[in-house]
Amino acid sequence: MKRGPFYLFVTGGVVSSLGKGITTASIGLLLKRRGLRVVPLKFDPYLNVDAGTMNPYQHGEVYVTEDGAETDLDLGHYERFLDMNLSARSNVTSGQVYRAVIEKERRGDYLGQTVQVIPHLTREIQDRIRLLEREADVILVEVGGTVGDIESLPFLEAIRQLSLEAPDRSFFLHVTLVPFVPSAGELKTKPTQHSVQKLREIGIQPHAVLCRTDRPLPPGTRKKIALFSNLPIQAVFTAPDVESIYEVPLLLHEEGLDRYILETWGLSTQPPDLEEWQAFVHRLKHPETTLRIAVVGKYVHLRDAYKSINEALTHAAAHHGARLELDWVDSEELEKVSPESRLEGVDGVLIPGGFGRRGIEGKIQAIRYAREQQKPFFGICLGMQLAVIEFARHVAGLPEAHSTEFQKETSQPVVDLLPEHGAEDRGFGGTLRLGASPVQISPGTLARELYGQEVVLERHRHRYELNPIYRKALEDAGLVIAGVEPVRGLAEIVELPRNVHPFFVATQFHPEFKSRPLSPHPVFHGFVGAVRRVKENQEAPSR
Ligand code: GLN
Repeated sequence: MKRGPFYLFVTGGVVSSLGKGITTASIGLLLKRRGLRVVPLKFDPYLNVDAGTMNPYQHGEVYVTEDGAETDLDLGHYERFLDMNLSARSNVTSGQVYRAVIEKERRGDYLGQTVQVIPHLTREIQDRIRLLEREADVILVEVGGTVGDIESLPFLEAIRQLSLEAPDRSFFLHVTLVPFVPSAGELKTKPTQHSVQKLREIGIQPHAVLCRTDRPLPPGTRKKIALFSNLPIQAVFTAPDVESIYEVPLLLHEEGLDRYILETWGLSTQPPDLEEWQAFVHRLKHPETTLRIAVVGKYVHLRDAYKSINEALTHAAAHHGARLELDWVDSEELEKVSPESRLEGVDGVLIPGGFGRRGIEGKIQAIRYAREQQKPFFGICLGMQLAVIEFARHVAGLPEAHSTEFQKETSQPVVDLLPEHGAEDRGFGGTLRLGASPVQISPGTLARELYGQEVVLERHRHRYELNPIYRKALEDAGLVIAGVEPVRGLAEIVELPRNVHPFFVATQFHPEFKSRPLSPHPVFHGFVGAVRRVKENQEAPSR
């Protein structure tokens, strides 16, 4: 077989949010299922060193890798589609490469030279790609942003240069939009033409374009795009809107995109083994029942802010033969109307992670409601901290219970800063407790039953913890600390016993980052299973 590494470069045109990340992940999946080793890399042209300091409203969720990198949410798609754990090396921002170049300049590495975007920054960018070469046959490089943005130019120039070194091992795929204009009754190709022209101005001739459309491209339209893009008609692919992102790999395979890429490289492989994936998509599209789960959070107006939770729930639901109706509840709303009225009719309640004071009393109300009404409850990170506060206030006789994140001077700080965060001001970039660490799960607990394992590795992103001083009081009142971090004893999982509540589990870590379509996360699996069970028990006629 011809030797790699091969480079698949994915760029985007016309508008953002075209699903470049899903496209990259989908092609990765197809190539992986053909037996190739693939590694993805996302370039993000913003100046933040990582996504950790960015507002979820602007940027969607911060995805945390095993090694504790705070990355772009596309890494979540990559991990889920490729079923692999990625590292910090798979997300490179302008901030990182500029910082590295400036540090080298200060150290004297470029002594005497004028340090410039070309060649110094572009070389730094190429080095980030080369770092992955040893572990991959194919490196999937997705360039964030839209062609034509000032910010992405150094990245595009870097990959252009790299492709000159490996012309027969490179493939440029340009993802664009072909909008339907109702007043004209037509699909319009002009934005795509302009966008491809822009790419060619920079010196990049794409090998294929992938057109996002809401309807099939008529042959004439395809021909026109091919002509103006300087491409054969077979190189114009379409990606119509689909119900589920998990269908995209199957559609792209039907379109022949993976085959076309391999032919361009002169590679032949076995056909991709997609059987399990197809079965998963089938289950997803043929549910037996519908479950309503309330997700109570602060960023509910932007779904991308809870991307991985949404996906983890989807994976678990597919395995339980259920379709989910997610009710995104703005936590502040629950401070105005009673949870009894707003949450009536939901089958389960999930409280995701979060930062800051706004809306927390509403979340606490939702937890109280779930606990008292015996609704399956799942709390994540902040969701666990608030579950502890709720339990402390309403069950353990600590009415002033609070987190020092929200009330510094509280007399009952049941949630407090992790010791390492107390002393000095460490700034905000990369200073949380981040990444995977072991969790020891106690025998006889629900968590242990769900995992079926004593020690698991889970990913973290937090600064506060269940205050160990209150541990005994909480346990005496009936809260079970089912999992701890083995070295320092930090509380990692709390739950209520099954004779008290059908499913009440909360985790300090973020299990959503480790759920995969074909292997849903055990706690999500358990939660959705409980939601279904409780709902069906209620519906069953009592004898
Ligand atoms: N704000 C809380 C903390 O810093 C929870 C963080 C989270 O939910 N990711 O500990």
